Amino acid sequence: MEKLFEQINRHSEEVLEKTIAWRRDFHQHPELGNQEIRTSKIIAEHLRSLGVDEVYDHLGGSTGVIGIVHGAYDGPTVGLRADMDALPIKEITKVPFASTDTQHWGDQGEVPVMHACGHDIHTAMLMGAAEAICNMRNSLHGKVMFVFQPAEEHHASDWVGKSGAAAMVEEEVYIQNRPEAFFALHVETDAPEGSAGDVVLVPGLAGGFCMWIFKLMIHGKGGHGASPWVGTDALVNGAEILLGLQTVISRNVDVYHNHATLSIGTFHSGKKFNVVSDLTTMEGAIRFTDLEQKDYMKERVEETVNHIAASGRCTADLEWTWIPPLYNDAALVADIKPKLAKTIGAEKIIEDRERIFKFLDDYAFFMEETPGIYATLSVVNDPTDHYKTHQIHDADFHANEKAFINGIKSLVTFAVSYGIDK
Ligand SMILES: [Zn+2]
Ligand SMILES: [Zn+2]
Repeated sequence: MEKLFEQINRHSEEVLEKTIAWRRDFHQHPELGNQEIRTSKIIAEHLRSLGVDEVYDHLGGSTGVIGIVHGAYDGPTVGLRADMDALPIKEITKVPFASTDTQHWGDQGEVPVMHACGHDIHTAMLMGAAEAICNMRNSLHGKVMFVFQPAEEHHASDWVGKSGAAAMVEEEVYIQNRPEAFFALHVETDAPEGSAGDVVLVPGLAGGFCMWIFKLMIHGKGGHGASPWVGTDALVNGAEILLGLQTVISRNVDVYHNHATLSIGTFHSGKKFNVVSDLTTMEGAIRFTDLEQKDYMKERVEETVNHIAASGRCTADLEWTWIPPLYNDAALVADIKPKLAKTIGAEKIIEDRERIFKFLDDYAFFMEETPGIYATLSVVNDPTDHYKTHQIHDADFHANEKAFINGIKSLVTFAVSYGIDK
């Protein structure tokens, strides 16, 4: 058995340089959710070049890719997930591979795009892991499914009401080959300096929050700004709804018990100073910890919105997307820990729920049906590094590449040693 872990380490180290190169390339050419055309093409070509037995692309309603490699021996199917999408953020880092790309983003037209959530890293590490695993086929029991999903950060140019993972789990090829166990990593930036390569791994509730994302459309009736009583002003009504929604948590939820927040991230209305606005749109999210209040939270938003809309003689439409909480299978965590200790080292496995608690990821859709693990990989700078790491989703987000080897090793270890006694 010891030999297997030596193999994992060697094969992972062999693909490290390539992984860094892929990541820099993806970082320089980021693509928004459901528009990961270049990225998914590179992934599918790579999997085919490795001789992965089954490769499917254009999945999840857009750009998803699934590869399935068959091992030399019979056994279960294990799934590994990476997300591919970037964010509409203008990068300000000074790295030589910083993004200057733009892409179309719905009403907002052409926007700057940046891999500010590390999905370039997830994708590159899984491509590296796929190569290492293919090179270990002769000792592989069962199959490994590589899932590259689009749109983890949700909708792209249009509101599709469904994120990438939710669309991927409905794919026929996924349903037919559904893995027995799943593993995914997300980069972590709220970690101490010098912690690069730490893998935070906890049993049970991983990210503590679940989330309702919503899009709200308030319809009024236009008219001349000189006679606003003739029209029905969707802008004023939208403003009242925006404020009314602030009471959904503060006056309806026991926040000591259910840790909840409601934020509205966008508000658009109106075309011109002298035209009564006939449409207001908003997008927001409710994040909370008590799953039992799932329906209640949604109902309180609906009631608040509909009643305030009616008071202004407007009508309102709400569209919802649900993101479940991340829940790690305790038996899987117990099984993988001693194995990971042999590849990344016991001191790099961190059981600190606080460090992972704020995470929300639509990967939870895979774990609703399949026992799985969601772990994080610290990519924080070392004290001597020139570039400092900023939070994910920050225009100055920068990752410490020294962390990547532990990411690759973790993916490979999980896939190759699953079901094998330690
Ligand atoms: Zn993100
Ligand atoms: Zn992310």
